[in-house]
Amino acid sequence: MRQRIFTLQQIIKAGTERLEAAGIDEAALDAWYLLEYVTGISRAAYYGEPKRELGEEQARRYLECIERRKKRIPLQHITGEQEFMGYPFYVNEHVLIPRQDTETLVEEAVKLISGRRKRGTKVLDMCTGSGCILLSILKMCPEAEGVGCDISKEALAVAERNAKRLGVIAKWVRSDLFREFTQNPHIEKYDMIVSNPPYIRTSDIEGLQEEVRFHDPQIALDGGEDGFVFYRKIIKDSISYIEDGGCLLFEIGCDQGEEVAALMEEYGYEDVRVKKDLAGLERIVSGRYNRGRICEKRKK
Ligand code: GLN
Repeated sequence: MRQRIFTLQQIIKAGTERLEAAGIDEAALDAWYLLEYVTGISRAAYYGEPKRELGEEQARRYLECIERRKKRIPLQHITGEQEFMGYPFYVNEHVLIPRQDTETLVEEAVKLISGRRKRGTKVLDMCTGSGCILLSILKMCPEAEGVGCDISKEALAVAERNAKRLGVIAKWVRSDLFREFTQNPHIEKYDMIVSNPPYIRTSDIEGLQEEVRFHDPQIALDGGEDGFVFYRKIIKDSISYIEDGGCLLFEIGCDQGEEVAALMEEYGYEDVRVKKDLAGLERIVSGRYNRGRICEKRKK
C-alpha cells in the first residue's frame, strides 16, 4: 500500500495529536523536537515552507518515533541526547538523563574552583553517570583535573563517550562508592568532591512519572529507605580522600538540606551552606573540610 504523503505542517499536527491523545505533557514540543531530530529541519526553515512535503521514509521514521514517545520512552532516549550546561551529552537507558537542576551544582563548583589560588584543582565526581557534572566542570575549568566514578560499567562507557565527544580528558574508575579507592595503597586526595547521588526514598519511586520510573536506571534514583544512604556513606568516606581545605558539594532533594548539612558538620566540614536552584528549591549543600577542626573535636 502506498503511504500517505504528509506536508511538514500535517505531520507535526499528526504527531502532536497522537502524543496528546496518549497524555504526553508537552505534546507539541516533543512533536517538534522529534521532527527536528528525524529531518534536521529547523523551526525557521519550517516556517519558511510549512507545506513542504516530507519524504516517505522520513515520515515513516517520524511516526515511529512518535509511537515510541507514546509509550513514555523519554525524548532523550529516542534522540540519544540531552543538552546540559550548553554541551551536548549522549545518553541512554544506563544513565540518568542530565537535569537542569543539576546545573546549579556545576555553577557552584566552577565558582569555587575559580576562586582558588591553587591551580590544577583535582576533582572527583562520585556517581558520575553520563559524566555531565564532571565534564562540564572540566570544560569550564580547563586547568582542573578530574576523576569520574560509578558502579555501573555501562554508565562509564557513556561518560567516556561524552568525554571523547567534548574533547575532555578525564580518568574513570569503576567502583561501588569508595570501595576501589580503599584498595589502592597510594591514596590520592582531591581538592573537590562533587556528587549527585541517588537520593529518592525507595517508597517515593512508584509515585514518579513513568518516564523516570521505568526509563531512568533504578540504581541512579534509589537513595534507600530514607533517601540518605548515599549521603551518609559518601560523607563518612570522603574525609579520607579530601584535601585539607577541600570542598564537598552535593545535589540534594529539596527536603534534604538540613540533614545533609548536619551530617557534613558532624564529619568536620565547615562553612556548610545550603543553596537554592532557579526554581527557589534547596538543591545544593557545600562545605569545606577542616582537618584541624576534626582533630580538635576528637581531643575533647
Ligand atoms: N551524576 C549524574 C547526573 O547528575 C548521575 C546522577 C545519578 O545517577 N544519580 O546526572
